[in-house]
Amino acid sequence: MQPRRRFRPVARSVAAAAAAAAALAVLAGAPGAPGLGFVSGGRPELAPTRGGSPTGGEGVALRATGMQPTYVPNPTHKETKRNRKVKVMARMPCQWFSTAEIMRRIVTVLIHNNEEKFRDAPMRTKDLMKEIGLTGYQMKIKRYVNEALYLLLGQKVIFKAKTSPIRWELHEEYRKDGLPPISKNKRKPWALSWLLQFERTKKPKYGPVHGEYRNRPWVPFAKRGEQWECQNCGFIEQGKLPTCTKCRIGQTPHITQEMIETMEI
Ligand SMILES: [Zn+2]
Repeated sequence: MQPRRRFRPVARSVAAAAAAAAALAVLAGAPGAPGLGFVSGGRPELAPTRGGSPTGGEGVALRATGMQPTYVPNPTHKETKRNRKVKVMARMPCQWFSTAEIMRRIVTVLIHNNEEKFRDAPMRTKDLMKEIGLTGYQMKIKRYVNEALYLLLGQKVIFKAKTSPIRWELHEEYRKDGLPPISKNKRKPWALSWLLQFERTKKPKYGPVHGEYRNRPWVPFAKRGEQWECQNCGFIEQGKLPTCTKCRIGQTPHITQEMIETMEI
């Protein structure tokens, strides 16, 4: 703390500071001493510095106010030390993947495990997060990997094979025509992941991340109770949804091509 001053610091503006300095100079020159006054004499940088710095920087803040940056040790704002330990910081470097990068890595790992010899299959979400190299906050919670997973699910690239815990594998629609190549180099597993491109890498503003926009008519109300058999997997559907709920590939016969063509979106 600074020592207490005799005079209150009233000189805030430039003009006021100049006036104060002039008054002090007059006071100092009044005795008419042979030596210079205490203002202009021995230590001139200390006297007229009420409002600003001695180098003339008027208006410069003399002390900080408000929130301080947390990377500076600041006694007025104590940060929790839990996340600032050296070992924790070294173990969890700040590495942030975009959603598209997470999607490419997920599909690379799932292609690697397509024959179910690489890891336990179908793969759990946590295993995928470890395998694609998430760190820090992206590893701590599942929000970021889930966004990528459900975007892939909506585009029929991956398939939710099991729940509780959720396990993922490649979608049959994605691997029926052959899989894209992946890097065989263990030290550069993501070298060819740039080959994987997806139609959508950003979640929609409204609705679920894996949702589909309605670009075809619904099943007519009169036919919703009728059963139909999926051409793909043979599952007997109750007729409420346009796609088979078992494999998500087979289409209902209740929606004809004419209805699709004449539909107004
Ligand atoms: Zn089916």
